[in-house]
Amino acid sequence: MIEFKNVSKVYPGNKVAVENINLKFETGEFICFVGTSGSGKTTCMRMINRMNIPSKGTVLIDGRDISKTNEINLRRRIGYVIQQIGLMPHMKIYENITMVPKLLKWSEDKMNKVARELLKKVDLPESYLDCYPSELSGGQQQRIGVIRALAADQEIILMDEPFGALDPITRDTLQQLVKQLQREMGKTIIFVTHDMDEALKLSDRMVVMDKGQVVQFDTPDGILANPANDFVREMLGEERLNRAQFDYETVEKMMVLEPICILENQTVAEAIQIMRKNRVDTLLVVNEEKHLMGQVDIFALDQRRMGTDRVGNHTKKISYLYNDTKIRDAIYYINDLGFRNIPVVNKDLVLAGLVTRASVVDKVYESYWSDYQPEGDDTIHQIKPEKMSAVEDTL
Ligand code: ADP
Ligand code: MG
Repeated sequence: MIEFKNVSKVYPGNKVAVENINLKFETGEFICFVGTSGSGKTTCMRMINRMNIPSKGTVLIDGRDISKTNEINLRRRIGYVIQQIGLMPHMKIYENITMVPKLLKWSEDKMNKVARELLKKVDLPESYLDCYPSELSGGQQQRIGVIRALAADQEIILMDEPFGALDPITRDTLQQLVKQLQREMGKTIIFVTHDMDEALKLSDRMVVMDKGQVVQFDTPDGILANPANDFVREMLGEERLNRAQFDYETVEKMMVLEPICILENQTVAEAIQIMRKNRVDTLLVVNEEKHLMGQVDIFALDQRRMGTDRVGNHTKKISYLYNDTKIRDAIYYINDLGFRNIPVVNKDLVLAGLVTRASVVDKVYESYWSDYQPEGDDTIHQIKPEKMSAVEDTL
């Protein structure tokens, strides 16, 4: 466990880089520090292995103040990977992988064993151990770079923008690899990035930093669902937040309130009248307590024979959603399963609203298209004459 307690860092010249940080990371977590350049991410990370000394406060690992632990032991437990995962060109792959274990004075046998095991994990042949980096493809070299970071079997690994300079595809592959190896090997990884996508993809929990302060510390889901302030919202971006709405907001945000309904002890004749007046072909049926009982359908009613019957006798069962259903799921029921409307109830089965096809369209429009303006005013006019004459022709 890593803990920051009231930690501040002031650099010479009174530059406050980090101010009063309080954080607690669990063993085995993947933590990302994310924020704009100069927000204090690297400073925070380097205080974990004493490359930076806090000006105030304490950093603890497993409950022990690291300023009081032996520096050599600390480095033995904590790996550090700086920007770029470049290999040493004049050293063979084996020497590259075992650089840190060698510094830690491991036996040749142990280094050999670990190097082979790790190569296997990234599906590269053992024969590569004797090659120079230039004999491998770029992608293969990158994979060696990743396993090198894990070779010394340290419990904690600090990575400072390791993929910053890579193209998006390589970057994506290596992100997946790091995440997979971290899980398999149970490492605690502290990862610095200014890339929100990367942080959301990798983190178990992420620390969003702005101007030396922690503005939010939560899981990616928690942050997407409830961004702490405008800075976080801006870092996430409008588009991502709009998409996230579908995952985190409930149907309550898009249902029609007070849908047309009828009491079960009203008559069929009354039901038909209400349907005609509102131009609908079904009505939701509720009891005196507003509990949803089902629906009546105009095609199943015959006014002449049943006019004085109670609606309750002709009510059919109906599917419904609870009011905590996420918008994405509701859209699935409507769109993929073909429901036309779905009533929404609270946990006591009291009718709360109705999700309709139109409410889905409205929500999608509001989320994705609300800022959309067609280029130029004449888009519609361009289409119109042609279509209009087509209509006239057939008349
Ligand atoms: P980040 O990693 O988020 O880009 P840093 O932790 O590197 O941010 O830097 C935080 C702030 O501290 C920045 O304003 C930076 O200029 C300043 N800073 C970083 N290192 C030093 C240093 N050695 N001396 C003085 N100022 C520094
Ligand atoms: Mg940095």
